[in-house]
Amino acid sequence: MKIIVTGGAGFIGGNFVHHMVNKYPDYQIINLDLLTYAGNLETLKPVEDKPNYKFVKGDIADRSFVFDLFEKEKPDVVVNFAAESHVDRSITDPESFVRTNVMGTTTLLDACRTYGIKRYHQVSTDEVYGDLPLDRPDLFFTEETPLHTSSPYSSSKASADLFVLAYQRTFGLPVTVSRCSNNYGPYHFPEKLIPLIISRALADEELPVYGTGENVRDWLHVSDHCEAIDLIIHKGRVGEVYNVGGHNERTNLEVVKTILKALDKPESLIKYVTDRPGHDRRYAIDPKKLETELGWKPKYNFDTGIRQTIQWYLDNEDWWKHIINGEYQNYFDNMYGER
Ligand code: NAD
Repeated sequence: MKIIVTGGAGFIGGNFVHHMVNKYPDYQIINLDLLTYAGNLETLKPVEDKPNYKFVKGDIADRSFVFDLFEKEKPDVVVNFAAESHVDRSITDPESFVRTNVMGTTTLLDACRTYGIKRYHQVSTDEVYGDLPLDRPDLFFTEETPLHTSSPYSSSKASADLFVLAYQRTFGLPVTVSRCSNNYGPYHFPEKLIPLIISRALADEELPVYGTGENVRDWLHVSDHCEAIDLIIHKGRVGEVYNVGGHNERTNLEVVKTILKALDKPESLIKYVTDRPGHDRRYAIDPKKLETELGWKPKYNFDTGIRQTIQWYLDNEDWWKHIINGEYQNYFDNMYGER
């Protein structure tokens, strides 16, 4: 089996490449990534010499490049992680989100139907459902929850999902979609909440928390997400959407305080900053379909997973310090002011 994994130099795609290369030595895994600011080949160091792994640099929205690659490789499966993924960036530059997340997806879909494919899997997000009120802990997103996006990021991901499902209906393309809650774990780019807080707390720097920190996110360890996608591409039903989440809801403030406690740092580092426009209040996934249909069960609870993740950042300072010292620094200064 030959699988093209797009966005495999990013956080979740990188973890997925590790998972697949190690678990399936007889599969060929091709990592197609543009290496934007979020792509980092250092993440692939542990697998780069394996015979069943190959990296190809390229843009999923570049039609002639994608078609040439499919002509040459004739993949059996495509798993699309490649995306502009940061909500804050989508507020300052929505167009790049349309280009990669929507046009990149349709380009891949067109290549898949031209060259024939056994499975196209779209890695999507629970953010396509919008948000839930904070005072209704009984409500969860199911696969039937209407799409109701809040940000340019989630709008671009919802658009892509609609194209993917339409290509199944119109062209009979064998597709699946997964919509996952917030991931955490190794190789997470340090602009996202958990690695941002870990790296800044270690340097005794202020910790920016949006609004009052009450927004609730449903955290899932990245390896549980990878396992879910592995199951869906092998056993998921064509044309179906599967929600992925582990019932680990925490307010942002709780997450920050958990990290501070684990690192033995004071809560006085927390600095509340002006809330993000349109900030979603609560995400919470109902993963029943994935559990009952495919037998998926997350291995990590949040308390164990976050402890291991903090330890990973302590053991792998080189990985994230390279990022923080580079282009990321300018971006951070523009968003939150000089350090
Ligand atoms: P990321 O930003 O860490 O990685 C994205 C990768 O895509 C990078 O390596 C980047 O170089 C690459 N890329 C960007 N534009 C490209 C293009 N035009 N062509 C080829 N490659 C390109 O993202 P992530 O957090 O790993 O998220 C991966 C996927 O999972 C995204 O589709 C995202 O919407 C989805 N998702 C993320 C989360 C989360 O918590 N991070 C949760 C649910 C779903």
